[in-house]
Amino acid sequence: MKDSTEGIDAIVIGLGPAGAAASAILAEHGRRVVAIERDVESSYRVGESLIPFCWHPLNRLGVVDDVRGSGFVVEKNSVQFAGLEGSVSKPFYFFEHTDHPCARTWQVVRKDFDRMLRANAARKGAELRFGHTVRALIEVDGAVCGVEVQDEHGEVSELRAPVTIDASGRATFAQTKLGWRVPDAKLRKVAIWTYYEGAKRDTGVDEGTTTIAYLPEKGWFWYIPLPNDRVGVGVVAEKDYLFGSTRSPEEIFQREAQLQPWIKDRLSTGHVIEEYRVTSEFSYRSRHCAKDGLVLAGDAFSFLDPVFSSGVYFALESGVRVADAVHAALAAGDTSAARFEAYGARFREQMEPMRKLVHAFYDDDFNFGKFLKRHPDLRADLTDCLIGDLDKDFDPFFRAVSEFAEMPEPLPHGGPLMRSAEHP
Ligand SMILES: Cc1cc2nc3c(=O)[nH]c(=O)nc-3n(C[C@H](O)[C@H](O)[C@H](O)COP(=O)(O)OP(=O)(O)OC[C@H]3O[C@@H](n4cnc5c(N)ncnc54)[C@H](O)[C@@H]3O)c2cc1C
Repeated sequence: MKDSTEGIDAIVIGLGPAGAAASAILAEHGRRVVAIERDVESSYRVGESLIPFCWHPLNRLGVVDDVRGSGFVVEKNSVQFAGLEGSVSKPFYFFEHTDHPCARTWQVVRKDFDRMLRANAARKGAELRFGHTVRALIEVDGAVCGVEVQDEHGEVSELRAPVTIDASGRATFAQTKLGWRVPDAKLRKVAIWTYYEGAKRDTGVDEGTTTIAYLPEKGWFWYIPLPNDRVGVGVVAEKDYLFGSTRSPEEIFQREAQLQPWIKDRLSTGHVIEEYRVTSEFSYRSRHCAKDGLVLAGDAFSFLDPVFSSGVYFALESGVRVADAVHAALAAGDTSAARFEAYGARFREQMEPMRKLVHAFYDDDFNFGKFLKRHPDLRADLTDCLIGDLDKDFDPFFRAVSEFAEMPEPLPHGGPLMRSAEHP
C-alpha cells in the first residue's frame, strides 16, 4: 500500500453538486483540497429540476452565467399541479413572487451540470481524481485522519488530511460505515422513472414548468421538460401499492401513467428513449453531521423526498457552507466535531420547513387548493418554501398547515458526535 501524505488540507469524497461546490470554495480559500470521484467521467444522475434559491450558491461559485449560457438547460419559471381529473392549477410563477434574478431557474441535464461544476472546481485549483473510489476511513484515536482509496487499476493508497468531507450522495459512505443512517419513517417511497422524446410540452414562459401530477393514494408523477425534446417523467408512491401486482418497472410506470389523465395526454405523442430506473433510497438523515476530522454534506448527510426538487439546492448550499466551516476550522487548527455544530444546525433548520411541507403533501387531508382557499394570505409563505427561501419564520404558516395535516416533530438527530458524548 502506498502512503501519499502530501500536506493536503482537506479530502472530499464525491464530486456531485455538494462535493464540487465544497472543493471549489476550499480551493478559493487557498486550501489544498483533493477530491476523489469514483466515476471516470461525468455520468447520468437524477435530479434535474432546480429551485430558484440554487441561484445563491451558484452565484457564490461564480457559475450562474455558465449555467445560463449553456446548452444543457431549459429555463424553469414555475411549478404547477395536475389533479386526478386532468385539470391543472395556475402555475406558481416565481417571478410573480420576487424580481430577484433567482426567479428564473433551470431544468438541467445533470451529467453536463455536474461536469461544469467539476470544471469550475478544477479551474480554482482543486485536485480532482476520477476513477478513484474511497474504500475506508482511516481513524486514529477516534478521529478521522484520511481515507483509503482504490484507483481504476485496483491499486490502493492512503490519503491523509486533517479533515475529510463526505459528499458521496445517496451512497452515504460515512453513514453506512459508521452505522449512522436513520430513515425518515413516514416517507418510505419508491420512484420509477424514464425519459420520453416527442411528448407534449408547453412553449414560451411555460416551456420549462415542472408539473407535479397527483395519483390516487397520494402518489404523484413528475414531468420535467429537458433540452432536445426530452422529458423526464417519474412516478413516486408507496412500495406496496406500486409493486403489489407486478415487479416490472415498465408495467408499473405505464399502468400508473394511464391513471393520470394529464400525464396520459402529455405522453401520448411521445416514445420512451431510455431504460426505466428505480430507487427506494428515500428520506433519511444521518445520526450525526460530523465527528472529529469528518463532516458530511448534501445527500451524504440528509436526503428528503424529491417532490419539491430541493436536493440539488441542499447539496450546493451545504457544499458551500461546509467549505467555509472547514476553512475556519483549519485556520483555528481544530477540526474536531464541535467546529461543525453550527454548520449542521443550519442545514437541519433549513431542511425542516421543506420536510414539513413534504409531510403535508402526503397527508390525505391536505391539498394546496383547499389550503390556499382558507388561507389566501399565506400564499407568499408557501411560495417562499417552494423556492427555497428557508431562513425565515414559518411557524404561523405551519400552524395553518396543521389544520389540515399532521406535522412531524423535528428530527432529533443530526448534530456532531462530540467526544464527550462518546466517552462520557
Ligand atoms: C427519484 C429522484 C428524483 C430527484 N429529483 C430531483 C430534482 O428534480 N431536483 C433536485 O434538486 N433534486 C432531485 N433529487 C435529489 C438529487 O438527485 C440529489 O439531492 C443531489 O444529486 C445530491 O447531490 P450530492 O452532491 O449530495 O450527491 P450526488 O449528486 O449523488 O453525488 C455524489 C458523488 O459521489 C460519488 N461517490 C459515491 N461514493 C463514492 C466513493 N466511495 N468514492 C468516490 N466517489 C464516490 C458518486 O459517484 C457521485 O458522483 C432527486 C432524487 C431522486 C432519488
